[in-house]
Amino acid sequence: MSAALLEVSELCISAHRGPRSVRLVDHLSFTLPAGEIVGLVGESGCGKSLTALALMGLLPRSGSLRCSGSIRLGGLDLTRCAMRDLRHMRGRDMAMIFQEPATAFDPVIRVGVQLATVLRRLRSLRRPAARALTLESLAQVGFLEPEDVYQAFPHQLSGGMRQLAMIALALACRPRLLIADEPTTSLDVTTQAVVLDQLKHLQRQTGSAILLVSHDLGVVAQCCDEILVMYCGRIVEQARCVDLFARPHHPYTAGLLAATPRIAHGEPLPVSPIPGQVPTSGELPPGCHFAARCGRASDLCSRQAPAEQRIHASRVACHHPLRDSHTP
Ligand code: SF4
Repeated sequence: MSAALLEVSELCISAHRGPRSVRLVDHLSFTLPAGEIVGLVGESGCGKSLTALALMGLLPRSGSLRCSGSIRLGGLDLTRCAMRDLRHMRGRDMAMIFQEPATAFDPVIRVGVQLATVLRRLRSLRRPAARALTLESLAQVGFLEPEDVYQAFPHQLSGGMRQLAMIALALACRPRLLIADEPTTSLDVTTQAVVLDQLKHLQRQTGSAILLVSHDLGVVAQCCDEILVMYCGRIVEQARCVDLFARPHHPYTAGLLAATPRIAHGEPLPVSPIPGQVPTSGELPPGCHFAARCGRASDLCSRQAPAEQRIHASRVACHHPLRDSHTP
């Protein structure tokens, strides 16, 4: 494994309202090696997107949200950087692909002009060079008529095409860290496969580290080296992709896999949903937050939050992990 490009240590994010505070992200620690794709998965509302925004330095530094812990990119602690320095790093050192790129584009400016403007600023290019690089990057992500895409307004492109245009921009900017927040959520499966292929292509070509945020295990299985499973603001399991799918150790991970439609030996496997609901962030139970939905829960689970332990190459936060389980 290569050296860590991103090191997140004890990251906590809380929302404060008067005397009340709610922990939204709870002591998150993980590393992202250069040249790897790491998936951050979990159900909606578990804190994935909030974590992504914190990594980009896009959370407000004052107000009701409070952030603690450290986020190091190439050794530099981003939580201590001035906002002006962070603005300078975004696009060059770290970039983000948002869930719905329609909201990232200005609707009244042609797509190519917007991409070229970013490239002129970030790479100090003159107008013709920025235009040429934009067209080249659009061609690289698979557009057969890059000039047409360049001239189009955002509403004239499909969701998948807008997402690919965003990846083309990331390709041209060559950030060291790319965060892709649910980049395939609103896409059909064919376009989804194209977008994931292009992310892998980007990673191979630029050596960027990619954090792929998704609620969909099927998506992360297609391109990630390592997977972090998040539940109610905590990482409950961290494992290499092949290990996680073959031998999940945390009951929540096993539940997610059992709830995902899969085929074995040409036959569909039965799908069983995880019972119960995700507790809201204001009503998190003490101890393990998954206890009310877990078939292995004991009294200890309701009293004490599980510490992280190593099982083979995986890290698991559970009092009674599945030790020799296979894909359920
Ligand atoms: S700590 Fe207990 S309740 Fe939580 S996942 Fe493990 S066995 Fe289940």
